[in-house]
Amino acid sequence: MELNTRLDKPLIAKSRREEICHIFGEYYDPERWNDWRWQMRHRLTKLEHFQPLLQLTPAEERGLEKARDKFAVAVTPHFAELIEPDNPLCPIRLQVVPREEELVTSPGDMIDPCGEDDDSVVPGLIHRYPDRVLLLALDSCAAYCRYCTRSRLVSQGEMYPLTRRIDAMIAYLQEHTEVRDVLISGGDPLLMSDEVLDKLLGRLRAIEHIEFVRIGSRVPSFLPQRITPQLAAVLRKHRVWLSLHFCHGRELTPEVAKACDLLADGGIPLGSQTVLLKGVNDSENALKNLFHGLLKLRVRPYYLYQCDPVAGTAHLRTSVRTGIDLISKLRGHTTGYAVPTYVMDAPGGGGKVPILPETLLAYENGKTTVRNWEGKLYTYIDPVELG
Ligand SMILES: *Cc1c(COP(=O)(O)O)cnc(C)c1O
Repeated sequence: MELNTRLDKPLIAKSRREEICHIFGEYYDPERWNDWRWQMRHRLTKLEHFQPLLQLTPAEERGLEKARDKFAVAVTPHFAELIEPDNPLCPIRLQVVPREEELVTSPGDMIDPCGEDDDSVVPGLIHRYPDRVLLLALDSCAAYCRYCTRSRLVSQGEMYPLTRRIDAMIAYLQEHTEVRDVLISGGDPLLMSDEVLDKLLGRLRAIEHIEFVRIGSRVPSFLPQRITPQLAAVLRKHRVWLSLHFCHGRELTPEVAKACDLLADGGIPLGSQTVLLKGVNDSENALKNLFHGLLKLRVRPYYLYQCDPVAGTAHLRTSVRTGIDLISKLRGHTTGYAVPTYVMDAPGGGGKVPILPETLLAYENGKTTVRNWEGKLYTYIDPVELG
């Protein structure tokens, strides 16, 4: 029987969760809260949803009124609970609540900064590097990151459903025997049902030359309730690697820890990708907290991205200098596993380029001079050819 959780009289909210449920005229019910489909049906998507919950600034109000025509707004109740109600600089809030600055285009901004549309070989398949492809599964996500590199596609309803594109993608992959690695991203692939995901992975796994399959997803951060033993079993069955997306240590809640445990215990190797964002994680402390927190959850920080120059994201981007300085404060100063590779997706389709602090000072006549993490200089002499 359907439990009646509708509000029949006004309630005084005692917790953040109750406040969020009240926006939708419902009581808080832990069982429903923990159901990922309930979370998806109760996402905050418009001004009226945010008004009772947050002390909105005028810039946010205008963002919620206007920016959502350009790029959809959605925040899961789980993620909304993490937002500080009266701090407009809250690092969780900056990631998902739009501001009117999104309507501003700055020099160098692009609609498709990574040049993916140019490298698209069949709809939804991007083949840029020799041995690996990017497969765009869905065009929706659990929540929308305001700095999304694919905002031109995601949430726009322009991508054909997977069922109409899949045969052409599989045919391309069967023909291209040089492809050994498929990265499934989107939109968020983990929003597919277990059955659809199982089928897609099964078709990819049936192609002999594909030896490595990974999924990029922010579901563990936005919607940890989606990570169920059944889902972990599907991923394990097809020997999938997961690249998760986290930007701030505060995202690592008990629910997220449970989800990561389920995945790690289920045999899924876990990496994470972080976008460097102004006011969110552009400090040594913020990055250390996040990366150390991830290691505790058995998630290996993989990439730290310089934020792509997507139109309307200048207010969230840092300079490259900031990124270099931050990575030099981590490398050597903490566990190597906790330091991701800082990369830039070269604007215009150049692909990922690592950006490294200068450690190689000179290399002449077989003599290498390097600078260590403390700033001290050392010399290495190349072996002399014997005989
Ligand atoms: C990021 C990306 C990949 C995967 O790159 P790795 O460095 O192997 O993680 C593949 N194709 C495209 C188009 C990409 O953007």
